[in-house]
Amino acid sequence: MEVPSVERFEIALNTPAGRVNTVLDVPTGFVPITSIVPLARHLGEKMLKLEENRSHETGNAISCRMGCAACCRMLVPLSPPEAFALQEYVEQLPQDRQTVLRRKIEQSKATLTAHGILDRLQAVADATTPIPDDELEPINRAYYALRHPCPFLDQEICSIYEARPAACRELLVTSPAQLCDNLAENPVQPLSVPVRIGTVLGLLWASIAGHSPRLIPLPLAFDWAHQHRNEAVRRWAGSHLIDQMLDKMWRFLSQEFERRGQSPGP
Ligand code: SF4
Repeated sequence: MEVPSVERFEIALNTPAGRVNTVLDVPTGFVPITSIVPLARHLGEKMLKLEENRSHETGNAISCRMGCAACCRMLVPLSPPEAFALQEYVEQLPQDRQTVLRRKIEQSKATLTAHGILDRLQAVADATTPIPDDELEPINRAYYALRHPCPFLDQEICSIYEARPAACRELLVTSPAQLCDNLAENPVQPLSVPVRIGTVLGLLWASIAGHSPRLIPLPLAFDWAHQHRNEAVRRWAGSHLIDQMLDKMWRFLSQEFERRGQSPGP
C-alpha cells in the first residue's frame, strides 16, 4: 500500500473540559476520505480523555470495564467515512477472519429481518435527506428491545476494537455498571461528549461529496460501503479535509461551550 507523505500540524483546541494540545500528521497529497478518520478519532479521544479526567476529579469515575458489553446491544450509527474505513479495515484482515466477520454480519441481518427491523434500517441507510430524531427513536428502541449483540462482539469483547466506530468510543458511563442492563429505562449517567466524531465526519462527507448528512446502521455498513464504492476512491487534498474537519469541530465546541454556560477562552 502506498504511504502518503505527511505534514505535521500542531493543533490546540479549547474544549469545555480543558485544552487539547496535540500533533496531527496530515497527508500532503490527495487522499481518500478514510485518511481523515484516524485523525478525527485521535482528536475525539483526546477531548474525551479530558472529560473523563474532569469527571473523575468530581468523584464520578468511569464504570465501563473490559468484558462489559451491555451497550453493544444498541444500534450503532456510522458516518459514511467510517463505513468505508470499516470496510477497508476488514479487507486487510486474514481471509479466515474476514469470512467469520462477514458470516456474522449476514447472520445478524437474518435475525433483524426475522424481527422486521432490517427493512427499517435499510430505509435509514438509503435516506437521501436527514431523518428526524423522532423517526429514528422508535427504530433504536425496537433494535435495543431485541438485545441483539453486535456482530463484531466475540465473547463480550469487541473483535474490531482498534477500528470500532466513534459512537462506540463515545459511550462511557459513570453510573453503576448494572444499570446498563436496561439502557432505555434505567437512570444511566453517560459521560458528556463535547464533539461527536461520527457527526463531524458525516457533515464533512456531506460537504465534500455534495450529499445530505446520513447515518448508516452498523449491520448495513459493508453493504452501504460496497454500493458506494465509486465514492470511496474519490480523493481530496489532505489539508482541505483537515480544514473542513476542524471547522466542523469548532462549531460543535462553541455550541457545547454555550450549552454549558462556559466561555471558550482565548
Ligand atoms: S463495534 Fe465493537 S464496541 Fe461497537 S458495538 Fe460492536 S462490539 Fe461493541
